[in-house]
Amino acid sequence: MSEALAAGSVIGILGGGQLGRMLSVAAARLGYRCHIFDPADHIPASDVASAITNAAWDDHGALKRFAHLVDLVTYEFENVPTATLDLIEPICPIRPGRKALAVSQDRLAEKTFLRDLGLQTAPFVAVDSAEALAQGLAALGAPAILKTRRMGYDGKGQVRLESIADCAAAWDAMRGAPAILEGFVPFSHEVSVIAARGLGGEVACYDPGENLHKSGILAETRVPARLTSGQRTDAVLMAARILNALDYVGVLGVEIFVTEGALVVNEIAPRVHNSGHWTQNGCAVDQFEQHIRAITGLPLGDGQRHSDVVMENLIGDDLDRLPELLRAPHTAVHLYGKPQIRAGRKMGHINRITPAR
Ligand code: AMP
Repeated sequence: MSEALAAGSVIGILGGGQLGRMLSVAAARLGYRCHIFDPADHIPASDVASAITNAAWDDHGALKRFAHLVDLVTYEFENVPTATLDLIEPICPIRPGRKALAVSQDRLAEKTFLRDLGLQTAPFVAVDSAEALAQGLAALGAPAILKTRRMGYDGKGQVRLESIADCAAAWDAMRGAPAILEGFVPFSHEVSVIAARGLGGEVACYDPGENLHKSGILAETRVPARLTSGQRTDAVLMAARILNALDYVGVLGVEIFVTEGALVVNEIAPRVHNSGHWTQNGCAVDQFEQHIRAITGLPLGDGQRHSDVVMENLIGDDLDRLPELLRAPHTAVHLYGKPQIRAGRKMGHINRITPAR
C-alpha cells in the first residue's frame, strides 16, 4: 500500500458547505488540518477548518497559492470548474481524480459510462434541439424526463413530458443548454449505496439506505432499506464495479431506482453524500472519516452498521423543532451553523437510531 499522508498535513477542500464542514471535523479527528477554498463567505466549514481561502473559482492566483499551501485536494461537490482543476493538478494531487468528475459533471457521459459498464440505466438520448427532443420522445415513449446535461441537482433543470405536445415548452425551459431525455423508470423506491475505495484499491461499502424526497429534496434516509438480500448484494456490487472502473479514491454515492425486475442506476456523486449522513451514528467509521481515510492512504474502516437509523434532514424552519429534537431519545442532532434560515435550505439533520436487528 502507498504511504499514508503524515499526521499534521493539510487537506485542501474545494467547497465549504456542510459536507466540507463534516469532512473537516473527521479530518481533525485523524490528526489532519483542513484548508477550505470557497467563493462564499460565512460558510459552514469556517467554524471548524484551520484555514479558509475566500476567492472566486476563476481567481487563478488564489487557487495557485491555495494549492501550494495544502498537501492534497479533495472536493465536496462535483461541479468544480475544469479550469480550476487544471491549475491545481500540476501542484498537488486531487482525489478523487479527474475521471470521476468528468463522468459525473455530464449526465450524458455518466449514463453512457454506466451503460458501457453493463449496468442498467433509464433509456436515454442526447437532445440538442427541439427536433431532436421530438424524435427522442417518439423513440423512448412518454412519460419521459428532460434534464440539462450539466449543473442539475435536487431535481433542478428537469422537465417531465407527458406527450409530444409538451416538447416545445420543455425545450424552451432548457434555454438552449445541451440536454438528455430519459425514459421514465417506474420505480417503487430509491436507494443509495455509499461506497469507498482506498489508495491501494480496497473497497468498503455501507448498507444501502432508502431515500424519501419531498419537493425534489432529500427528506429522509432509512437503513435498512427495503431490499431482498440478493438486491442488497447486487447494489453493493454495482457500486464496487463503478469504483473500480473509475480507479476511484474516496467516497462515492450511487443512487439506484428499485423496480420490479431490476436495480436501475440513476446517478453517481463523486463525494460524500447527504444519503450517507446516517453513517455518523450507525457505524463506527462514518462516510466523512472513510473519505479522509481513503484519500490520505489510511486503511478503510469496514463500514459495518451497528444500528438501524432514520436520518431526517432539517430543512428551512424545521429548525423550529430543535428544542423537541434535542430532548428526543436515541437522537443525534447535527447542525450546519448556517446563520440564516431559508425555505428549502438544509440547516442540519438528525439521526434516530435503534439497535440493528
Ligand atoms: P436526479 O436529479 O436525476 O437525481 O432526479 C431527481 C428525481 O427525479 C429522482 O430522485 C427521481 O425521483 C426523479 N427521476 C429522475 N429521473 C427519473 C427517471 N428517469 N424516471 C423516473 N423518475 C426520475
